[in-house]
Amino acid sequence: ARPVKLSVQIHPYADNYKLLLSQDITALSQAEAMRRDFVANVSHEIRTPLTVLAGFVETMQSLPLSDAERTHYLALMAAQSERMQTLVNDLLMLSRLEGSPLPDGHELVDLAALMAECEAEARGLSELLHPEGEAQRLQFDPPPAFALAGSRGELRSAASNLINNAVRYTPAGGSIRVFWEELLPGQVRLAVTDTGPGIAPEHISRIGERFYRVDRSRSRESGGTGLGLAIAKHVAQRHGGELSVVSEVGKGSTFALVFPASRVRAASDGSGLAAP
Ligand code: ADP
Repeated sequence: ARPVKLSVQIHPYADNYKLLLSQDITALSQAEAMRRDFVANVSHEIRTPLTVLAGFVETMQSLPLSDAERTHYLALMAAQSERMQTLVNDLLMLSRLEGSPLPDGHELVDLAALMAECEAEARGLSELLHPEGEAQRLQFDPPPAFALAGSRGELRSAASNLINNAVRYTPAGGSIRVFWEELLPGQVRLAVTDTGPGIAPEHISRIGERFYRVDRSRSRESGGTGLGLAIAKHVAQRHGGELSVVSEVGKGSTFALVFPASRVRAASDGSGLAAP
């Protein structure tokens, strides 16, 4: 009964409030269904590593183990708890992004330093996923001659989510290129192109939804939470921009964070674009 009452208060003078009522109820039940889905997804994501952890604890308690076996099990348990930590961190970040506007008084974000951090992280991840040797070609173009006004922490997280996804989803032998460019009219973007599996058109519109995965097993295998692109999308939107995806199955993908010119500043060393 509550949704009906709420709708009447929102549209007290509507001519055809019956129609509006049914639309509002649909919107409310959709929101409610999304909330339920989200809670179910979170519970599932947490339950899986917890079950695995509990299994290892039981094994360790019930079997006599050698030192080597104990070390082995402890490493597996550490991986599971790390997975839960990453998930909870992503959830907290997403809830912060969804719940509050970007604070005023933006930082001047030095993109050279930020990209250097992302590059080091991506190379480390690539080595971890392909211990057999240099398996992927990672190309980071020179940093742009401008800075961005915004939240450094958020931009760092959005950029590394796109870059690390390219590393995670591109198989050995593939290549990844990361570059900033100025678009016309008056926009800049960070583009991440890869020669990975690509994404079919029917999945593209759902990219950026929380927990939406095209390839579930590959996501889990490489430590994905299913929240990285949702975070990137929110960060871009909070900075007045958007997350864009162009992809072709079998060829690869380009994920980009697009920002409006109003965010662009001269780099702190004085080079680059003048502040608008
Ligand atoms: P996950 O933790 O599962 O990677 P994301 O939100 O980062 O979650 O990405 C959502 C889904 O989008 C992934 O599960 C994957 O199926 C797909 N995806 C993301 N980046 C790429 C990419 N570079 N190439 C192919 N598929 C991708």
